[in-house]
Amino acid sequence: MNNLYLKSFIRCKRKAWLDYKGNKSDKIWSPHQSIEIVNQYKNFYKLSQGDLYAGIKACQKGSNGVIGLKVKSKLINNINAEIYPQLLKKVRGQSKWGEYKYIPVVYKLGYRTTKEHLFDLAFCAILLEPFQGSKIEKGFVISNHSNNINIEKIDLSKRLRKKVLNTFLSLNVNLKGSIPEITEDRKKCTICSWQKFCDAEAKNNGFLTDIDGVGSKTALILKNNGISNIKELATSKKMELGEKLLQFKEQKFEKASKFINQSKAYLSGIPIRIYAKDGLSNFFSKKDSGFLIFDIESNPDEKHDFLYGFLKVNHLFEKIEDSFYDPILNLKKNSKKSYHEIFQKLFYKENWPVLHYGETEKISILNLARQLNLDSQAIEILKSKFIDLHLITREAWILPIKNYSLKTVANWMGFKWKQKNVSGSKALYWWIQYKTTSNSLFLEKIIKYNRDDCLATLHIAKWLINKNENIT
Ligand code: SF4
Repeated sequence: MNNLYLKSFIRCKRKAWLDYKGNKSDKIWSPHQSIEIVNQYKNFYKLSQGDLYAGIKACQKGSNGVIGLKVKSKLINNINAEIYPQLLKKVRGQSKWGEYKYIPVVYKLGYRTTKEHLFDLAFCAILLEPFQGSKIEKGFVISNHSNNINIEKIDLSKRLRKKVLNTFLSLNVNLKGSIPEITEDRKKCTICSWQKFCDAEAKNNGFLTDIDGVGSKTALILKNNGISNIKELATSKKMELGEKLLQFKEQKFEKASKFINQSKAYLSGIPIRIYAKDGLSNFFSKKDSGFLIFDIESNPDEKHDFLYGFLKVNHLFEKIEDSFYDPILNLKKNSKKSYHEIFQKLFYKENWPVLHYGETEKISILNLARQLNLDSQAIEILKSKFIDLHLITREAWILPIKNYSLKTVANWMGFKWKQKNVSGSKALYWWIQYKTTSNSLFLEKIIKYNRDDCLATLHIAKWLINKNENIT
């Protein structure tokens, strides 16, 4: 039993069990985890002012930072416990090694400090205290935003330690039992390395949370009302179901109809056309002009959009040449030169719309325009140019898929990315690798990926137009 299983257990009981007993070949590589490891090391190095070494020898010689240490002990009920602290930071005090001691430090990606961080610190402190012969009152949660290390001091109180030990006992029971159920809160699964394995089981069992828009709370309400799987949801009556979905207030019947249709499409594999709002007709009316397809790659932690990809398309169904794609790299944040080029592209032809998938691109460009003090008329023109295909797809169609991300939708429509198992997180991982190594191979991979994202958006545009023409 170690702190890594404990962390997994807090996230999802099943994950801890799978980490301990699961078949490792069912696991997939998680870019999120890799990004965390790379960033973690960089920040630990910085926090230790370069005096960062591994193992017990580093503790003995009093290095500022210690990684790669393993401490074993017996805890309550004589259970074997181990810790692999992310980082130990030297502070003033008295330990068996001299006039200093160590406190545990964990790194967090993003802004939220969670129970996982607190429990990891407290669990490490419990085992580390007898090991170094010194009390530990505090631990640090560190993060890095805009190149500054933020340190949050955490009080490792008796209460927190007690909770950790109780969780440790539950973990011990969990690992001895059979595989736990898939978590109700499927949002947790998006960054989990067991996702593929659990997705297959959820699909076989008709899990309600596989239906777009049905989260853990809605699934519970449905279960309490006798609807326990997708088949039962698909055969529900709109009015009866609507009456059960009180949390959606005046939208309850609209939601009921959506859930029923989404379930029907999911089971049959056949998309369902729904009421087409203005978005699709607006897009349809512009289909004969040329247009730009636009996609951004960014590092959200540093609020840095590092690549702006443009695909120039003169006609929707023309053959796409390599030269139509133009990536603008923004390697240094706030580079005026890249911004100038970006706006030149966006205004390239007055009547050309800019197609994108999801709201990020529009928000980012409008923010940039305001930051650069573009006049209000130019901003209005920009606003009217953007056409969000994600919105249009969702308004016009119910597709037989689990979610409406660019990857899922374009894949379902038959588009294939040239590089295997790619995602926005993987592109971010490549970016971090590029920043660390300056190896341009990583930039090439990002550009290739972004180009495919633009082509995938084009694929969706063609699908929407084709279907609309077949129907009207
Ligand atoms: S994919 Fe989801 S249910 Fe499966 S182990 Fe991971 S978090 Fe738990």
